[in-house]
Amino acid sequence: MPRKPGEQYATKRRKDKERWYNKSRPARHAFYATSEWRRLRDWYRGRHPLCEECQRQGRVTAAELVHHKVEISEGGSPLDIDNLESLCWGCHSRLHRVGGGQNS
Ligand SMILES: [Zn+2]
Ligand SMILES: [Zn+2]
Repeated sequence: MPRKPGEQYATKRRKDKERWYNKSRPARHAFYATSEWRRLRDWYRGRHPLCEECQRQGRVTAAELVHHKVEISEGGSPLDIDNLESLCWGCHSRLHRVGGGQNS
């Protein structure tokens, strides 16, 4: 595993990624721009500040986004907290590489 980047670098990288994410988000995921989702996401991340996947593996990593366990495009409930999971970027991209999706 590569060494963890410094805090400053991690913050910069997250900003870059968010910018990319917002620009490339397809129209069908306009849901992610709604205030309902932003409010729920912030609330959920406040309750689950650590990456849940890392926690399962005994690691302590700050969560950087909230992911839908069942993607909305696959019929997952967008605002059901049982369908949400706090993840770090690493776990999130790993999950999506397997599933082939791009959205949260
Ligand atoms: Zn993680
Ligand atoms: Zn996701």
